[in-house]
Amino acid sequence: MADIRIGYGYDAHALQAGRPLILGGVDIPHERGLLGHSDADVLYHALCDALLGALALGDIGQHFPDKDPAYKNIDSGILLKKVFELIGEAGYRVGNIDATLRLQRPKVAPFIPRMRRNIAEILSLSVDRVSVKATTTERMGFEGEERGVSASAVVLLLSDL
Ligand code: MG
Repeated sequence: MADIRIGYGYDAHALQAGRPLILGGVDIPHERGLLGHSDADVLYHALCDALLGALALGDIGQHFPDKDPAYKNIDSGILLKKVFELIGEAGYRVGNIDATLRLQRPKVAPFIPRMRRNIAEILSLSVDRVSVKATTTERMGFEGEERGVSASAVVLLLSDL
């Protein structure tokens, strides 16, 4: 019988000078970037956790431990692709995704179309099934104080059976 699953993911990384700011696979010009073992792409990480969560397959830290040198500064698009392959092996495909980035600066609106295309390509989706939104937090909290960036994502999975 056909099955649908919903998954939710959340992630946050700290901003630090001397690091690239990579969001949704796009290298965004900014004076600081996100600190992490991988490239710290907080949007891709939230998507990984949403996909894994939909099938109760644990989380990104279990699949790609940050102690493992293999994942040092890795392109998180590779991690997202690996997670997508797990979903396929389990007999599911992605119906749609909806994600929100929370950051005060820089303005990321001009880069969102590229993020959507990147995600659509990795997840074998049409772009109209990939929503990426961004909001400030009105200078409140760590995102608003520009100490970090967070992202959340929900995903719907459909079984092919
Ligand atoms: Mg992360």
